[in-house]
Amino acid sequence: MKIAVLTSGGDSAGMNAVVRAVVKVAILKGCEAWVVREGYEGLVRGNTEASSEQFIDDEPVNLPDNASTDGSSFNLIHNLRFGDGDLLKDGTGDHPGTRSLKGRYIVRVGFDDVRGWFAEGGTFIGTARSKTFRTPEGRLQAAYNMVKEGIDALVVCGGDGSLTGADVFRAEWPKLIESLQSEGRITMEKAQLHAHLRIVGLVGSIDNDMSMTDLTIGAPTALHRICEAIDNINSTASSHSRAFVLEVMGRHCGWLALLAGVSGGADFIFIPERPPTAESWEDQMCECIHRHREVGKRKTIVIVAEGAIDRNLNPIKADHVKDVLTERLGLDTRVTTLGHTQRGGRPCAYDRILPTLQGMEAVETLLEATPTSPSYMIGIRENKITRVPLMEAVEMTRAVSAAIEAKDFEKAMSYRDPEFKE
Ligand code: ATP
Repeated sequence: MKIAVLTSGGDSAGMNAVVRAVVKVAILKGCEAWVVREGYEGLVRGNTEASSEQFIDDEPVNLPDNASTDGSSFNLIHNLRFGDGDLLKDGTGDHPGTRSLKGRYIVRVGFDDVRGWFAEGGTFIGTARSKTFRTPEGRLQAAYNMVKEGIDALVVCGGDGSLTGADVFRAEWPKLIESLQSEGRITMEKAQLHAHLRIVGLVGSIDNDMSMTDLTIGAPTALHRICEAIDNINSTASSHSRAFVLEVMGRHCGWLALLAGVSGGADFIFIPERPPTAESWEDQMCECIHRHREVGKRKTIVIVAEGAIDRNLNPIKADHVKDVLTERLGLDTRVTTLGHTQRGGRPCAYDRILPTLQGMEAVETLLEATPTSPSYMIGIRENKITRVPLMEAVEMTRAVSAAIEAKDFEKAMSYRDPEFKE
């Protein structure tokens, strides 16, 4: 079997570890391992004929024993770091000891290509949001490019959008293959050989907002980054007896804000799922912080999640929180927006372990897949790696977001945690 892996949507720490695990386990199980650069966009772009000719000798290093460590082998890290510049523009790839990936978005790789990737942030194979893949024409081209390389098993690592795209692609696959055959773009033998697409999803998201799994790949690292930022702020806040308002990512999910607050010793936390109970959150927050100051605290930390709202469903913004602290409590208050520092950097240990275990499970799942089995998402529940029907998880995630948007928090929490009680 030829197994391809791609990363899609927003990047998260641990995506490289996913690629590494999938590539290594696929090869160890006797499969060919391929990577798709730039998410679904790479599937649509595929490999140009000229580039295929240029790469006739790109036999990957298939087995650990054969792996070259002298840097002269085809090494994706070198290609991506030194050869390409802007990947979507196609680079020259003329760094010594490397080869160009120009015109090649679907690339066969070996053990040596992914060596050490577990410790690297972001995603070396690139990620993108592809408009073309959302169109039937784009997906037809993507199917053609895959079949051309003989690939019909795909691991997708991304958020709920990417996993929806994967499900749509798989559902459409037989029709796409039929069209390709009737248009004379592929032979009947190829059409029969690749009649079904096997797909498995891994959740790469710093927000930890996917239902039916306890943790998403990249969330622990993002939490770690925020925690470090709070530690840094704590010392300066304490020195000047200042207040800091930190805005953190997470969209509809307050997981990052809540756990960062717990691990960083915040005074007050605003999250989307649990708006302040008082009519005036300003009063509620000021009372709490005043109490903390009264008992001798020299610093104040307030965390505002990206999607935080008050009980009247209006957004709570960090600048407004700052004004309240300054005007009502007379605190010298600063706002710190952590932005993309939360997303980047080296994965913490857990964001190496989780993708490794889930990457292994993803390959096993593909090997066991049948034309009638559902597409699975690999999750983790109570410390056990799980397989759950991919679309069930995506639909539940969407239902949570819709319930939060409709301000039905009890419903939202009951979807996230069936045992939840107020
Ligand atoms: P993040 O959580 O970081 O936003 P995501 O995976 O949810 O990640 P999206 O931008 O929603 O990010 O989706 C990534 C890509 O998946 C899209 O650019 C598109 O190519 C593909 N995709 C998403 N939804 C669909 C769909 N319904 N049909 C086909 N492709 C889709």
